[in-house]
Amino acid sequence: MAVVREPSFRQSVDLMFNRAVGLMDLPPGLEEKIRVCNATYTVRFGVRLRGEIQTFTGYRSVHSEHMEPVKGGIRYAISVNQDEVEALAALMTYKCALVETPFGGSKGGLCIDPREYEEHELELITRRFAYELAKRDLINPSQNVPAPDMGPGEREMAWIADQFARMNTTDINAKACVTGKPLNAGGISGRVEATGRGVQYALREFFRNPEDVKAARMEGTLDGKRIVVQGLGNVGFHAAKFLAAEDGARIVGIIERDGALVDDRGLDVEAVHRWIVNHGGVAGYADATYVEDGATVLELDCDVLIPAALEGVINLTNAERIKAPLIIEAANGPVTAGADEILREKGTVIIPDMYANAGGVTVSYFEWVKNLSHIRFGRMQRRQEEARHQLVVDELERLSEDMGKIWSLSPNFKDRYLRGAGELELVRSGLDDTMRIAYQSMREVWHGRDDVTDLRVAAYIVAIDRVAKSYRAKGL
Ligand code: NAD
Repeated sequence: MAVVREPSFRQSVDLMFNRAVGLMDLPPGLEEKIRVCNATYTVRFGVRLRGEIQTFTGYRSVHSEHMEPVKGGIRYAISVNQDEVEALAALMTYKCALVETPFGGSKGGLCIDPREYEEHELELITRRFAYELAKRDLINPSQNVPAPDMGPGEREMAWIADQFARMNTTDINAKACVTGKPLNAGGISGRVEATGRGVQYALREFFRNPEDVKAARMEGTLDGKRIVVQGLGNVGFHAAKFLAAEDGARIVGIIERDGALVDDRGLDVEAVHRWIVNHGGVAGYADATYVEDGATVLELDCDVLIPAALEGVINLTNAERIKAPLIIEAANGPVTAGADEILREKGTVIIPDMYANAGGVTVSYFEWVKNLSHIRFGRMQRRQEEARHQLVVDELERLSEDMGKIWSLSPNFKDRYLRGAGELELVRSGLDDTMRIAYQSMREVWHGRDDVTDLRVAAYIVAIDRVAKSYRAKGL
């Protein structure tokens, strides 16, 4: 059998970067400055667990400090390594630039399988990791602000925030040291769902542009489109749930660690999710066909493929057999550089990770701003907005009365119009706006230049250009 050689994740990101800068006019020195990772710290620390000292290895990589703080998630997985965190940190730089969140790129990881530890053990490990990072300013509201990635969630972010606050007792902005916290610990409404919601908004924006839909050999709207999702974790679950419930899409395949579920009539996403939470996997779920070799379901005949689990799943070994005409990269780096080339040649449209999963960092940005301003979004305006709307409704009803009630406002309109925007509505509005504007900025390059034939290169060009301008403004 021929040996298939794939570049590493980091090399894949560099290859994609090189393809874009090849079409730009950057001085070679600046190009290199933007490409390289500024620093990667490895920390090794011991924690006394189960009567013995266990040593853990963690990383925090800072890719670019053209804007500070730098931002990026923390991943808990046995497979975490320096190459991976550097690739993910680089993607964060480009992602933040593309969606105009004022951060440089960073990423962290801890080599650990969180499922092997009790909650109190995970707390000890997380706090110690946070201590090691905070001591080196690798967690800091003005320098480096982590968030959850694969593995950790709100609970871990709350521990990190508390650990930082204990080490910086007089820092009034301590809560802004990390995002993705629970609401009662300085979090923001809508953060948990944000990345999945962003995937939904990205797809909606794509389908608002018939020319782009046609490029993916489809027509119409999201309604009735057949979707396959890989990974029903935070990102995949929310994306699938919203697309099915709010856009009429049919989730015809769900791929998890232990296999996949398939049903052409559409799966009940919430029921499957509940099953996974209770049984640890998809096997045994009754209302669908179970496929033991889950990865083969990536090759199912469908309209949209959403890889939302991990990197490198679409690679040289299976790219040729992928049938979906549209792939939206909810995970980071799910398509290797080699597979990207094969898919482009086949005419598959790929909505790239740096855009597709930017909902998380966008809402993290809102959370960071909320923490620094020490006030919930909407608190000052909401009732005033409602009072002004009430004035309009009263006036319209008075006019209706004067005209002999030949018309009236529908109760549904009144309810909706009179409700002032709370934090969740504002967060969704800000996220929707961000995803629409960023899509248009990529699209302009995609359709506006003869030498750009795909959205990924377009995204890189927009992002790199912004980072370059930022470096130039600093005199570099
Ligand atoms: P998660 O840990 O909540 O979910 C990952 C899911 O993938 C889990 O359900 C897991 O069982 C499943 N999975 C793992 N290995 C698999 C395999 N081999 N085949 C099929 N399924 C598998 O993680 P998440 O936060 O949803 O992150 C998923 C991806 O999205 C990652 O690439 C991450 O970097 C990216 N991302 C996450 C966020 C965020 O806000 N959480 C933001 C941006 C990007």
